[in-house]
Amino acid sequence: MQRGLRSEIHRIGIIVVTLSVLGLAIGHLTLTLLLGFSAYLAWTFSQILKLYRWLESNREEAPPDAHGVWGDISDQLYRLQQGNKRAALLHRSIIARIKSITTALDEGLVLLNNHRELDWWNPAAEKVFNLERSDRNQPITNLVRAPAFVNFIQRGSFSKPLEIKAPNDDQRKLLISASTFDEGNIALVIQDITRLRNMEQMRTDFVANVSHELRTPLTVISGYIETLQSNNGSLPKAWHTALEQMRQQTQRMNALANDLVMLSRLESMEEKPSSNPVELQPLLEQIVRDASALTNENHHISLDCKEGLTLPGEAKELYSAFSNLVINAIKHNPDGADINISAEKQKSAILVRVSDNGIGIDSKHIGRLTERFYRTDQSRTSKTGGTGLGLAIVKHVLLRHHGTLSVNSKLNAGSTFTCRFAKHK
Ligand code: ADP
Repeated sequence: MQRGLRSEIHRIGIIVVTLSVLGLAIGHLTLTLLLGFSAYLAWTFSQILKLYRWLESNREEAPPDAHGVWGDISDQLYRLQQGNKRAALLHRSIIARIKSITTALDEGLVLLNNHRELDWWNPAAEKVFNLERSDRNQPITNLVRAPAFVNFIQRGSFSKPLEIKAPNDDQRKLLISASTFDEGNIALVIQDITRLRNMEQMRTDFVANVSHELRTPLTVISGYIETLQSNNGSLPKAWHTALEQMRQQTQRMNALANDLVMLSRLESMEEKPSSNPVELQPLLEQIVRDASALTNENHHISLDCKEGLTLPGEAKELYSAFSNLVINAIKHNPDGADINISAEKQKSAILVRVSDNGIGIDSKHIGRLTERFYRTDQSRTSKTGGTGLGLAIVKHVLLRHHGTLSVNSKLNAGSTFTCRFAKHK
């Protein structure tokens, strides 16, 4: 039991005994007890009043002097109050720190409630989205109206970040990542990736320009080599091999420059490919004819494609993608290998497959095949004459046509490259 409570009971005991003795002595026990307890009540009330006034007044002061149980109560209240003060101070300092951290951030932060309304944001987000104080509790889609963003917020599936142009500056690019917290609230992180995208564009432009500039000198060199080779008879024998090697290497450089130009073009093209239906049968037949000329009938190429099957897209790009796969099947497989090209319509997709029964590819390489300059066997590069860019080109063409590339392969059994194009509704 608390000390104050004990002394209060003690005090009441003494008062009762004293009043009883006094009451008996003067012969008015009830009256004395009544008067005594009224005085005790008045004293208790004065203690409550003091405490009440203290609670209402400036809490900085120490609590009033009180005795017994009232002393205990005011001590406890004081301690509670001091504890609350310390906790409030701590909270305030934590909030101030979080505020200064989020203010210092270059990334914009926005918190939305579960109705997708603005709840809180930091200065970077304020700048990038032009937010004002009065925008609080406004649906964010009323303020940032880019259709892709509205769709992103409404769909609520945030596994991939979204890239959009800044609302009031077309030149700036923003990357928005989102995650949900506390049952439906959303945190948005907005990064300005303009510099990154500009640097990527510079790199693409640089590669495209260099490759383009290389084409003219390469054409001149090839021309001279051809002329020299056609006059082989008048040249010393030692020159014949050297000239042949020069021809091959120039051809390789030419192929490399052409592939780099093509890849840069595919990468930087913002406009979508045309959606005119491309007849697959004549396109694939053309590829078979061109590829057969290349292989001098050393590989057996067959085609399965029904008449009338079409794919919306850019014929030139599709030709380049499928012929890259067929040329790969020829280049990377020994004479005598069978190569089959097939196209078929499925319920929700159109599939174009190029398969061979050649050397196959080890599964450890499969995930990296579409990387630029990735080859399963670097030492075979000069033999096959490949640029290492073929599958990267295929990937980009498919990307532009809402298609995906999958590779199935088994060492010494052959490979199947499948292009899957989702059908448009
Ligand atoms: P490359 O110009 O070397 O052909 P690609 O990007 O077209 O470059 O292909 C990447 C690598 O994938 C090739 O170097 C080769 O090792 C492998 N590859 C592609 N197609 C086949 C295939 N049909 N059979 C075996 N290996 C293949």
